[in-house]
This record gives sequence, structure tokens and C-alpha cells, in this order.
Amino acid sequence: MYAFEYHRPTSVQQAADLATQLEETKFLAGGHTLLPTMKMRLAAPANLIDLGPIAELHGVERSADTLSIGAMTPHAEVANSTEVRAAIPALAELAELIGDPQVRNRGTIGGSVANNDPSADYPAACLALNATIVTDKRKIAADDFFQGIFTTALDEGEIITKISFPVPSQAAYAKFRHPASRYALVGVFVAKHRDEVRVAVTGAGSNGVFRVPDMEQALRQNFAADALDGISVPADEMNSDIHADATYRAHLVGVMARRAVQMAASRT
Ligand SMILES: Cc1cc2nc3c(=O)[nH]c(=O)nc-3n(C[C@H](O)[C@H](O)[C@H](O)COP(=O)(O)OP(=O)(O)OC[C@H]3O[C@@H](n4cnc5c(N)ncnc54)[C@H](O)[C@@H]3O)c2cc1C
Repeated sequence: MYAFEYHRPTSVQQAADLATQLEETKFLAGGHTLLPTMKMRLAAPANLIDLGPIAELHGVERSADTLSIGAMTPHAEVANSTEVRAAIPALAELAELIGDPQVRNRGTIGGSVANNDPSADYPAACLALNATIVTDKRKIAADDFFQGIFTTALDEGEIITKISFPVPSQAAYAKFRHPASRYALVGVFVAKHRDEVRVAVTGAGSNGVFRVPDMEQALRQNFAADALDGISVPADEMNSDIHADATYRAHLVGVMARRAVQMAASRT
């Protein structure tokens, strides 16, 4: 690795001040993406600002109709949280499907959302659950936040502080995992809200996570897997690589969407 300065602020304000004052900064969460990137010399920040010691970025909070998760909360904590399991069990199940125990104990929800890997799981949950990404500067609707592969609405030096999820009436996540990396080859999150149904797909789209309006409309009329009969996503908008070609991924979107609806519909 190249030499860099390491900083340990203890408040969001201190972290934001460091990002403003210093040159070439990067925030460090669990380091699960950032450190390998630095080791491969794809990133060489002069200043690493560790968000780990900032207590206000950790933990889960439940209000009447919203679940808020601090950016530095690791996946394992989300998976095991009784509050998450009670409010949005699909979110705890999604966290449990991420990587392996090592990844789940170091990787964070804020790092995952900020990184917006096209195969990451949380972006699908954020879109389907109509989440709000809260930063030190503003609140960003998930629909506006994810802007393409590894691209988000975050400005330079902007810190995600928490992610707020409205509690849906029913929701489920169906994931077809890559057997080695355990990232989603295709993952579909379906959420039924009071006024709408949202369907979000990760792992498949050539432009990253996306919603499927035709499925959403059909499920709004009839929240059952059969309602998706005859609805497909265009293969020419899917990823194609050594793991799965675009046609296969497009097919899997339909299969995973049906599974997610069946799981969600079985929850009262
Ligand atoms: C072997 C392996 C398997 C994995 N499998 C899966 C999987 O199945 N599903 C899945 O979804 N993910 C998976 N991941 C990703 C992992 O879960 C992490 O969420 C992801 O790597 C981000 O890591 P991190 O939270 O440690 O963030 P870091 O690596 O520390 O940071 C990632 C990026 O986000 C920025 N950042 C971090 N926190 C903030 C913040 N609060 N505000 C603003 N910017 C911030 C950093 O500056 C950096 O650019 C896997 C990773 C590995 C190594």
C-alpha cells in the first residue's frame, strides 16, 4: 500500500471537518471494499478517516412506522437484531445472506450503500422499501440515490449517517447467490406498502439496481405470484459475464420475483 495518514474522529462533525480540511480523503467503514481497493492500488487516498469510533453512527432505532439503521451498523447486527426482525424480517434475512460471517461482522450497511456495488443486496432493499438515505447534509430518497454502477448521489466528503426504512405491510427478498463470492447473481426485493408495491432487482441490471414498474403495477392489483405471469425484463438491459449471460439473468429475475412474492404474501 501507499503511505497514508489515518484519522480517528469521534463525532460526525469532526469527520466532516477533516474531510473539508484535508486533501484526498476517504471514509473508512469496515474496510471490506476500500482496503482491497487500496491494496490493488486502484485507490490511493492520502487521508483515511475511520468512522468506526463514532458512536452516533451505530445501532438500530424503531419508531411507530420507521426503522432507522446507523451507517456503521455491521450486517451481523442487522441480521440478529430483534427490532429489525420484528419490524422488517425481510431486511434481517437479507443481511443474513450477505457473504460469510467475517464479511457480516466487518461490512456495514453505510459502506454497502455508499459503494453501490451492482451485486450488493442492500440497494435492492433501499429501493423496494422506499428508504431515505440520511447524510450529514441532507435526506436523499433511495429513488434518487442510486445512479448507476458504483455511482450514487453522494457529494465528495458527504457522510451517510443512517438509513431510514418505512415499515411495509409485507416484504421478502429472494436471492440467487453466486456460490463462491455469495454476492447476488440476481436478487429481488418485493415490498407491499399501504399505497404501492415496489419491486427492486440487484445483481442483474447493466446499470445497477433497478425497479420493475410492470411487476409493481400487476402486484398492486393482485399481490400473488400468478400476477407476474407474462411479465419479463428485457435481456438487453441485463449484465452478461462468465457467471451468467443476460438471457439467464433476465429469466432469473422472473423466478426470484415470484419466490419473493410468495414469501411476502405468506407473511401477515
Ligand atoms: C468476500 C466478500 C463477500 C461479500 N459478499 C457480499 C454479499 O453477498 N452481498 C453484499 O451485499 N455485499 C457483499 N460484500 C460486501 C460487504 O458486505 C461490504 O458491505 C462492502 O464491501 C462495503 O464494505 P464496508 O462496509 O466495510 O465499507 P468500506 O469498504 O470501508 O467502504 C466502502 C466505500 O464506502 C465509503 N463509505 C463507507 N461508509 C461510508 C459512510 N458512512 N458515508 C459515506 N461513505 C462511506 C468508503 O469511503 C468507500 O468508498 C462482500 C464483501 C466481501 C469482501
